[in-house]
Amino acid sequence: MSSVLTYTPYDSIEDSVHLVHRVFETGKTRSLKFRKQQLQRLYDLVKDNEERFYEALAKDMNKPRTEALSGDIAPSLEECLYFLDNLDKLAKDEKVKPRLNMNAMDDLVIRKEPLGTVLILGCWNYPVQLSLVPFAGAIAAGNTAILKLSEVSPNTAALITELFPKYLDSHCYRIVNGAVEETTALLKYKFDHIFYTGSPQVGKIVMKAAAEHLTGVTLELGGKSPAIVLPDADLSVVANRIGFGKFYNCGQICIAVDYVLVPEDKMDAFAEAFRKTVTKWFGEDPKKSPHYARMVSQRHVDRVVGMLQNRQSGAIAFGGEFDRDERYIAPTLVTDVKFKDQVLMGDEIFGPILPVIPYSNLDDAIHMVNQNLPPLVLYAFTGKKKLAQKILDNTQSGGVCINDCLMHQAEYSLPFGGIGNSGIGNYHGERSYRTFTHERSVMAKKLNMESLIAVRYPPYSDKRNNM
Ligand code: NAD
Repeated sequence: MSSVLTYTPYDSIEDSVHLVHRVFETGKTRSLKFRKQQLQRLYDLVKDNEERFYEALAKDMNKPRTEALSGDIAPSLEECLYFLDNLDKLAKDEKVKPRLNMNAMDDLVIRKEPLGTVLILGCWNYPVQLSLVPFAGAIAAGNTAILKLSEVSPNTAALITELFPKYLDSHCYRIVNGAVEETTALLKYKFDHIFYTGSPQVGKIVMKAAAEHLTGVTLELGGKSPAIVLPDADLSVVANRIGFGKFYNCGQICIAVDYVLVPEDKMDAFAEAFRKTVTKWFGEDPKKSPHYARMVSQRHVDRVVGMLQNRQSGAIAFGGEFDRDERYIAPTLVTDVKFKDQVLMGDEIFGPILPVIPYSNLDDAIHMVNQNLPPLVLYAFTGKKKLAQKILDNTQSGGVCINDCLMHQAEYSLPFGGIGNSGIGNYHGERSYRTFTHERSVMAKKLNMESLIAVRYPPYSDKRNNM
């Protein structure tokens, strides 16, 4: 139990689950007017309390204000506005043209219906965005919902918990707080969909629990996302863009660059360009920089520092310092790492350590990437379209961003999600709406014109009919 966050008692978890199921059955959340009103209230919740969110995010991980704005506040607000502007269009029945001649006179439509009661399990690294953005999708699609906030970022969870009933309908939407025990308790109940953001390990637990009720899941997971630097790329630009993709939120981002593949003759030049970037951004002592976040807990410091200390290859080109009490790990570059290093190249790093692996030719680099499970994103840096195309044609990943980092996730007109070990399903904007919607096919026939369809009744004719 955290000192700032009160966990939800077990019996009230059960009450909340039953309540949101019952309220869904009343049809309250099906009304578009109601959905829009709640989306506006969700927007207000974030906007009216923006300063308090900055404070909470700073307490949880020293998140710099600019990063909190771009990574948490702005996407949450923008998603509410998107649904407010587009809900009528998204919710409209879709007319379908029949393919069978015997259905030519019928009305075929796809109705956009809510799934029912959904469970959203949020994550701590972007505790506003990764809770409220899927939640906005669930509201827009007309569901009732239970939102489980991450206990790992307790200040932000406590703030959302305090504000929630002041802004939102507390019969339709409930918050549950807690850790493993509370999540385990929640997962025993039947939901109509579960949306989980977190590690592949816990993703498997969620999926197993969902399978007991044949509940559908969206899993937003992680993995080892590579960046391939091609020989033609300008290293000073690459260093900025990969630095952005690695040190934003101290590397605690699912789409962080996990490792870099660099042509073997460019290793030293890359390390030097990267050192220049980091020094320009955070000064000689990044610990003193107000622009550099902290690890979310000492446990997370221990895990990442352990990877650095127990690594089986590579030399620290710069960084490596840490301060457990302050949850600080310096931006760190490890050069000449071996792909077979089980420690640095085993699990996702999820912290500010960047291993760099040399490669001899592009086929070699692609081969390395393909030895890992498909990552959430693949980054490539080259001005040559043919080389980028070769990488696209010969690899798999949830998404791709060429010549930049992170920005594909911020562009909500693109679906965001993984593949296989990095996730199942996707969301953002229209894709969120689909994720939380059941497309219900409706065929409405007329009761006349029986003679036209009589061909399908016994006794059958052997003559080929024109169905
Ligand atoms: P995690 O999966 O370990 O999740 C932690 C949450 O799961 C906690 O709330 C915890 O209480 C709960 N939990 C832990 N063990 C459990 C169990 N046995 N049963 C039920 N609940 C349990 O997440 P993490 O490792 O702290 O987060 C980092 C991971 O999340 C990384 O892999 C990262 O890539 C991924 N991530 C993905 C996205 C995305 O959008 N795809 C976003 C953020 C993070």
